[in-house]
Amino acid sequence: MSAVRVEHVDELAAYAEATAACTRCRLAQGRTQVVFGAGNPRADLLFVGEAPGFHEDKQGLPFVGQAGKLLEKLLAGIGMTRQDVYIANVLKCRPPGNRDPQPDEIEACESHLFRQIELIEPTVVATLGNFATKLLSGKPTGITRVHGQEQEATLGGRRVLLYPLYHPAAALYTPAMLKVLESDFARIPQLLDSVLAPPAPAVPAFAPEPRPLVEAQPVQLGLF
Ligand code: URA
Repeated sequence: MSAVRVEHVDELAAYAEATAACTRCRLAQGRTQVVFGAGNPRADLLFVGEAPGFHEDKQGLPFVGQAGKLLEKLLAGIGMTRQDVYIANVLKCRPPGNRDPQPDEIEACESHLFRQIELIEPTVVATLGNFATKLLSGKPTGITRVHGQEQEATLGGRRVLLYPLYHPAAALYTPAMLKVLESDFARIPQLLDSVLAPPAPAVPAFAPEPRPLVEAQPVQLGLF
């Protein structure tokens, strides 16, 4: 758990409340409710998916359908639960028929995600699928090429480790992709440890032997 300031936990709750009435894009018209995100507001690990689907829209929580069950299973595999992490999406409202997010919808919604990152202060941000990966890496390279490759990024004004992963929904029906997702997932604990470990001390913990004040005379080597 990060050393997030207590005020940030309250601010995140207040921000969620304010976002519940968002009308920045057309998706406001068809949604049941805004799916802000859920989990530990002080999590070191943040997952970012694409957008709420049918079940998420009904329940107001991210990743509660089939993809969510798989995400929970993958978390269990590394000894974690939903309560240990925070889960959010690029879009906070369900696109009709679960179609892809449109560029103008992402643009309208992205500051909600950046504010979440600012307030949660995660150290590792795991992007699930293409939309989250492209948005947060700022690069057009697709998930097939970058999955499992951590990269440093500045998000919400902070340095984080960005870790792109296949989207669990894509892995649900493709066993080969599931295998890759599982092995990428298995590296998460080590990534969290690497960014949470205190930096190596700048000076050696133990001072080296003091040098003699007078340099030792070079030993004369006998010629014979
Ligand atoms: N897929 C997502 O990307 N997000 C959800 O919340 C559910 C399914």
